[in-house]
Amino acid sequence: MSDQPFDPSTLDGGNARRGLMLVLSSPSGAGKTTLSRRLLAEDPDLIMSVSVTTRPMRPGEQEGIDYNFIDGTDFDLMVNRRQLLEHAKVFDHYYGTPVDPVEAALAAGHDVLFDIDWQGAQQLKQAKGADLASIFILPPSTKELEQRLKSRAQDSGEVVARRMSKAGDEISRWSDYDYIIVNHDVEDALAELRAILTAERLKRARQTYLVNFVKRLQDGQ
Ligand code: 5GP
Repeated sequence: MSDQPFDPSTLDGGNARRGLMLVLSSPSGAGKTTLSRRLLAEDPDLIMSVSVTTRPMRPGEQEGIDYNFIDGTDFDLMVNRRQLLEHAKVFDHYYGTPVDPVEAALAAGHDVLFDIDWQGAQQLKQAKGADLASIFILPPSTKELEQRLKSRAQDSGEVVARRMSKAGDEISRWSDYDYIIVNHDVEDALAELRAILTAERLKRARQTYLVNFVKRLQDGQ
């Protein structure tokens, strides 16, 4: 057997690695954005899917990074041209996931992270089943959720109140997800998220490129 360190990228034959689609959902204010940014910053193989939305840009947001901000006409065009992998109406605005960047990232062997609501998660599951792992993030309490929404200070009091009243609705979807994280502490939640990503990457079905490696092991090479 070779004493070279194991490097899957040098393996010949076998099928290419299947990219993973990691879906994160939560009620607004449960910490999903912070967690996804932290995970993306430390993992170069993970790429964020940037959604399109008809919602107005918030202070501090950047075009092409947080969202691609488009109007209703362009959104409808993308829906009609089947350029969205999934789309939904959330809090009076439309949101959708453009297909092309996701397909390109997966084809290049990257994993893709989605910050989408339960409606989008359901549609993606139907479209992409086996390639998808879904995670729901719960806040530690209703009080904490309200505090986090208020401290964001980007939305008006009325918007905060509406988001709170929607939170119960979103939380009721938790049982549709593969994994649940309760975000008591951001470092603990991040460690749990990392553990899920690692385990999902190690699933046999995703390591199709190991076929020839295992054959060589069986041949005593
Ligand atoms: P926000 O307006 O606070 O950025 O997002 C509101 C909600 O829309 C969040 O729950 C977020 O996960 C969800 N969302 C963002 N982008 C998409 C998308 O492309 N599709 C769907 N279905 N939901 C999205």
